[in-house]
Amino acid sequence: MNTKQKVVTKIESLAFEGKGVARVDGKVVFVRYAVPNDIVEIELLRNKKNFAEGKITRIVEPSPFRIEPICKHFGVCGGCSFQNIPYEVQLEWKRRFVVDAFEKIGKISNVEIKSVLPSPKIFGYRNKMEFSFGTSRWLTDEEIETQTEISTKEKQFALGFHIPERFDKVLNINYCHLQDERGNTIVNSIRNKAFELDIPAYNLRNHIGFLRNLILRFSFTTNELLLNLVTTSQVGEKEKKYLDWFKENFTSSELVDQLLVTTNDSYSPTAFGTIEILKGNGYLFENIGEVRFRISPFAFFQVNTLQANNLVSKVIEYANAKEKIVWDMYSGAGTFSLPLAKVAKTVIGLESLESAVEDAKFNAQLNGIENAYFIAKDLHTKNILQELSKFPNPEVMIIDPPRSGIHKNLLNAIITIKPERIVYVSCNPTTQARDCQEFAKYYDLVEIQPVDMFPHTYHIESIALLVKKG
Ligand code: SAH
Repeated sequence: MNTKQKVVTKIESLAFEGKGVARVDGKVVFVRYAVPNDIVEIELLRNKKNFAEGKITRIVEPSPFRIEPICKHFGVCGGCSFQNIPYEVQLEWKRRFVVDAFEKIGKISNVEIKSVLPSPKIFGYRNKMEFSFGTSRWLTDEEIETQTEISTKEKQFALGFHIPERFDKVLNINYCHLQDERGNTIVNSIRNKAFELDIPAYNLRNHIGFLRNLILRFSFTTNELLLNLVTTSQVGEKEKKYLDWFKENFTSSELVDQLLVTTNDSYSPTAFGTIEILKGNGYLFENIGEVRFRISPFAFFQVNTLQANNLVSKVIEYANAKEKIVWDMYSGAGTFSLPLAKVAKTVIGLESLESAVEDAKFNAQLNGIENAYFIAKDLHTKNILQELSKFPNPEVMIIDPPRSGIHKNLLNAIITIKPERIVYVSCNPTTQARDCQEFAKYYDLVEIQPVDMFPHTYHIESIALLVKKG
């Protein structure tokens, strides 16, 4: 097998990161955007010792499961992996990802893994979109093959998403089905006006240019829309003209309720900076269950509001926390802590990000919740057990770590503290399975409920309920 070689092969399954799996000469080949049971011609892109990667060059015989993706950017953009697979079939595969992780990594096969809780909306479900401006527009294979006329000016300006693994290339996005319809109108008008006035995008290599990011947030509770344009401070005459248009056009627009511009001159690609509010007060409000959350412009919030409601309900059910002392580890702005505080005796939320802790405290007050306490703490330090021993012992613990899973120091501390019940919420079944194997010495793994927070992507959230043995 050589790179650039073409072979015809059958796709056997899907691997966790959303790639189709084929076998060529006994070696595993990962193929993006392939559907199980497809017979495809692939070109080998990368040939490593234990696996290879291939790209579909022709569909010889489509899988009976294959459907037409609704998005014209599918297959290039990289945001969605499964638009060519019916939603019910996506859910079956996502359950398999969790089962496989627990069997292969966690060596756990005697646990009930429920069928995946489907998302109430499968399109238009995101409450936050972050678009990037770029000075190097990604041309699609189609544009190259059909030799579409694209001017130099057009090649040097794009507004959309970064191409996977090509950080400096940006694909123009004209329509994203995962966001609210209003977002598409806004993205296109912002791009068109910038192009018309010849406004430069920020160049990540030489740090010259003006336009950096466009952030849209939508409230599913109030239906408000927040628009935040992130730029550098490199303002010349035409940039000033653009900002004037931006301000006038969107302060008077019915589509936009909260309007902000953010200045960011840092070299970091992360969107943040100094905020100026042009319309509204700069916040969005969203309800999860009975609790109202105020969301700061750059703060993390569960992305799929409607499904977050179901996630929180399931966590509350598993926690069984009536009149109990609960610790919420990695509590963020209190998505689980605050609804839990309505039933529990006391909730203690622990989180390292100061701004999230401040938001959580604010939201507790906003809801008149007086039995939830939020403390800024790095949960990964060596002496974390000692630090945690200051707080009243928990009967229930909620743990929602980042993708890397529960840090070893914290895991050891939890095993020493041994709460009666643990509800482990995870966005990465591989690290969740690894951590559950450790817990399994002292805990019974009762059941696992996978929850689909991100339809059409390979991501899967799962909630594991663990109860102390004996
Ligand atoms: N449960 C929250 C947030 C979960 S995301 C919600 O649903 O909204 C994971 C959280 O872990 C983030 O808020 C992140 O800031 C926090 N975090 C990451 N590393 C941490 C550490 N070392 N100590 C404490 N919190 C950390």
